[in-house]
Amino acid sequence: MAAAPLNLHDFTRSELVALVGAWDLSPVHATRLWNYLYYERVDNFAAMNELPVRLRKRLESETTLGRLPVARETHSSDGFTRKYLLALTDGHRIETVLMRYTGRTTACVSSQVGCAMGCVFCATGQMGYTRHLTAGEIVAQAVHVDRVLRSTAAETPALAEAGHESPHHRHERLRNIVLMGMGEPLHNYDAVMKAIDILRDPSGMALGAKKISLSTVGVVPGIIRLADERRPFHLAVSLHGATQAERLALVPAARAWPLDLLMEACRYYVTKLERRIFFEWTLIEGKNDSLGQAHAVGSLLKGMPAQVNLIPLNPTAGYTGVPGHQMAARRFQEILAGYGLPSTVRQRRGIDIGAGCGQLAVAE
Ligand code: SF4
Repeated sequence: MAAAPLNLHDFTRSELVALVGAWDLSPVHATRLWNYLYYERVDNFAAMNELPVRLRKRLESETTLGRLPVARETHSSDGFTRKYLLALTDGHRIETVLMRYTGRTTACVSSQVGCAMGCVFCATGQMGYTRHLTAGEIVAQAVHVDRVLRSTAAETPALAEAGHESPHHRHERLRNIVLMGMGEPLHNYDAVMKAIDILRDPSGMALGAKKISLSTVGVVPGIIRLADERRPFHLAVSLHGATQAERLALVPAARAWPLDLLMEACRYYVTKLERRIFFEWTLIEGKNDSLGQAHAVGSLLKGMPAQVNLIPLNPTAGYTGVPGHQMAARRFQEILAGYGLPSTVRQRRGIDIGAGCGQLAVAE
């Protein structure tokens, strides 16, 4: 049986040099190949006409460019959000979101097909876990979004006139990545970190560390590893409950990593990296939006370099809860401020196309 072709997006730059070297070709060609992949973003081997024919032939027969075909594309009526259903080579599919707010272009990228963590209000959690994505499949999502940004730049003047987008989008490229799509990124740690390394390479996509955000449900070993490896990304920890019992009712993963262990890991992280943590709080009416719960969050996080992001619940098919009211969010914020904790309320965007927080899912 023939070996499956190698996905070129799975390779770091030094691995690409080694691959080309193993084929008895100069590393110079690997550098040119890297530029084709991440600078010019060509989508076929024939266009790589500065590579020796022998290398192109070998690439054609033994590798793929790792593109993920778009099975469906939907645009939100808010004018800011697009969602892509992307097909993987084994028939599974994932969702990736492009958010294009004024002065900011962000890809919300998936790390797994489904998710094993089972947060009750999350559509991805409701679909269960199928498999991890490879580094190349994660990189390919970012490359896809970047291509979209470049190819649709000409469309933006109309949107800019409508007050939706900046005219700078005519020169836009992908600037930010959030690992907040389908899946728990720290459950697929190695592939996610390799993908980030590839996307950060200064001679490729060159994404800055400060432009990368990871969201975790609270995978304690992953948080400790991020600290030990000194990975300077924005870290968002999904809290949702300020006592073990309340958290466990929404986040089954709290059984494996109880609240006290999670807080210990968070304190270790902020001390070691000297960075703050963003704590996410999905606001659900009657579940976790009371004044008492706001005080409990304040007491839990007091003194820690932290920010709380309140996210009014987004609707999903498998959960009947309703979003906490705007007034409840405001009261929550006031109480948190009393504990010295800054907070934000997440704007609800892309809800009409199921692209909001916790809404990504694919029928398997
Ligand atoms: S919120 Fe995140 S960790 Fe929880 S089920 Fe959804 S994708 Fe998984």
